[in-house]
Amino acid sequence: MSDTSLTFDPIRLPETCQALRREARSFLAEEIAKGTFDPNNPRRGDAADGREFAKRVAAKGWIGMTWPKQYGGRERSFLERYVLTEEFRIANAPTGVYFTADRQSGPTIIKYGSEKIKADILPRIVKGEIQFCIGMSEPGSGSDLFAAKTKATKTDGGYLINGTKIWTSNAHKSDYMIGLFRTSAPTKENRRHGLTSFLVPMKTKGISCNQIRQMSGQNEFNEVVFQDAFIPDDHVLGEIDGAWKQATTELAYERSGPERFLETYYVLTELVRAMGNNPDTRSAEGVGRLVAQLHTLRRMSVSVAGMLEAGKEPVVEASIVKDMGTLWEQALPSNVRTLAAFIEQEPGNQMPLKKQLAYATKVAPKLTIQGGTTEVLRGVIARGLGLR
Ligand SMILES: Cc1cc2nc3c(=O)[nH]c(=O)nc-3n(C[C@H](O)[C@H](O)[C@H](O)COP(=O)(O)OP(=O)(O)OC[C@H]3O[C@@H](n4cnc5c(N)ncnc54)[C@H](O)[C@@H]3O)c2cc1C
Repeated sequence: MSDTSLTFDPIRLPETCQALRREARSFLAEEIAKGTFDPNNPRRGDAADGREFAKRVAAKGWIGMTWPKQYGGRERSFLERYVLTEEFRIANAPTGVYFTADRQSGPTIIKYGSEKIKADILPRIVKGEIQFCIGMSEPGSGSDLFAAKTKATKTDGGYLINGTKIWTSNAHKSDYMIGLFRTSAPTKENRRHGLTSFLVPMKTKGISCNQIRQMSGQNEFNEVVFQDAFIPDDHVLGEIDGAWKQATTELAYERSGPERFLETYYVLTELVRAMGNNPDTRSAEGVGRLVAQLHTLRRMSVSVAGMLEAGKEPVVEASIVKDMGTLWEQALPSNVRTLAAFIEQEPGNQMPLKKQLAYATKVAPKLTIQGGTTEVLRGVIARGLGLR
């Protein structure tokens, strides 16, 4: 019988986290003062040099901070990592170089990589030297990952990859991809069979990236084409043909963090700033409602982080946070726009909010697609609750 329980443990952030929060804030304030990035600019990728920033974050011990010391990690808690993610996201800090590797590629390598790969790759992630992308979606297989067709064919000493991945965020800037490729056909009994996870060096001959422009103006996406790209045997991560068994916990990490409801948060802070110290009752009530919703989401997200820390697998709870969180951040620009209509200000003063709203409105549609669509997540939740 499947487990149909739904639990959000009432976890609070301990004092060690609050001390780390203060440290993070002062680090970020220094970076802002130095001109590394503009906290009022939500286009985090626009920062002049994300690579140098990553190295300074690394020097603080904040990349791979939960990983084993043997690979350069600090063996700190997921709750501490939570606080850093939150502070860096709220500040619009340029975390693009290391965020994917820190959140999911590194943990996947720790779990499924050979000792040689771990010793080579993990310390370089921890130093902020290498960037990762995720090669899952393909034309014709997004939500239905198990329909992936890009082939890895066995050859002497490794595999030849042929096919196309799509929507691969930051592939053009990345040093490595963790990609899902077809090593055999699905079986009658198990259509999930036949996919294998590989560590792919992006400089490999036979890999090309074609950038895709998003409607927000970002050039973050790519179509990645593989033509006889050779990947050595020791770059296989985990079981050949059995990658489907490896995905579940990784998705709980990917789906429940504060980055899943803070992507348009800047319009809320800018609204509060624009309202000033004496907002009218109706505006204050509107902001209060949004903040109360955010607070609840955050409690749920912290709870999932705490359950992951305790070694549980809160897959359904993580999906609920992702579903509710992305709907909230998606609706935020239009909610803020409505409340901003009550602000009486001299012309010109609303400019930052106006600009930010214009950008957030164009970013909003993607929020319920990336990391698993709303409809698919609801299917996962329903199954987890034993309803389908
Ligand atoms: C900003 C952004 C960044 C991304 N970055 C990456 C990345 O780095 N790497 C990567 O591999 N992918 C990435 N993706 C791709 C993303 O994961 C897929 O777009 C997503 O999984 C949906 O797949 P699809 O576009 O093929 O749509 P489809 O799967 O074709 O879905 C189309 C519609 O049908 C619905 N649908 C599909 N199946 C079901 C079902 N079983 N039940 C109910 N409804 C269903 C969906 O909800 C959706 O509304 C990114 C996407 C975005 C928007």
